[in-house]
Amino acid sequence: MVINCLTTFPEFISSIRDYSMIKRAVDDNKVELNIVNLRDYSKDPNRRTDDYPYGGGTGMLMTCEPIVDALDSLKNKGKVIYLSPAGRSLDQELLNELKEEENLTFICGHYEGIDYRIVEEYVDLEISIGDYVVSGGEIPFMIIVDGISRLLPGVLASNISYEEESFYSGLLEHPQYTRPYDFRGLKVPDILLSGDHEKIRLYNLRKSLELTKNKRPDLYEKYIKENDNKDIKKILDRKEEEE
Ligand code: SAM
Repeated sequence: MVINCLTTFPEFISSIRDYSMIKRAVDDNKVELNIVNLRDYSKDPNRRTDDYPYGGGTGMLMTCEPIVDALDSLKNKGKVIYLSPAGRSLDQELLNELKEEENLTFICGHYEGIDYRIVEEYVDLEISIGDYVVSGGEIPFMIIVDGISRLLPGVLASNISYEEESFYSGLLEHPQYTRPYDFRGLKVPDILLSGDHEKIRLYNLRKSLELTKNKRPDLYEKYIKENDNKDIKKILDRKEEEE
């Protein structure tokens, strides 16, 4: 997958190539990260990419020309995405959709954002990382690339499965514990040491259901509606001491 990113702050983003899942995805040629400096497409003697907004208002706006020239220079543009508070909210479902794309191009806004003609004429999708405003599209971009990278086949270590992580199944992940067994009197649930894989699977599923019910009742209701399977009924009816 080729991921292009149009930004006025390329140095801010470049370092993500050197860390964690994105590094693995890039090293394994699963992702080609092409970071494009919008200033390279500015005709301004000072390499500016912003100007005053028509109609007044505080702050500057990113101009059309450097963005369009940068888009025109790309060989594998794919879907063009503008990172914007007005966009579709980012969630696991959207990341799963994005991971299927061959090529993606992200536009990072800055200052007050970008000229709206870009959004209307050149953008296929707007994505928001939540109902709040950050200073630029660079951090939202990094979040999305990280989220996509870990979904690509072979990027996560073979003993880790994203299907078991929060949100993929529609539930939050069950609690997990590591050594020591007894930390200042706080003990790991004994069932996890039993070696009985089926019992552990059902226990973890029950904990996952409980956690989701308590912390994200909205997700829980949706999950119960969509998953009317026997396991869930069995688990919900079960008392802890029966395990
Ligand atoms: N004036 C804009 C508004 O009120 O909607 C906010 C501009 S913001 C300071 C600058 C840039 O940060 C935006 O153009 C966008 O690219 C990015 N940005 C800010 N918040 C975002 C969010 N929640 N999701 C995605 N991108 C965001």
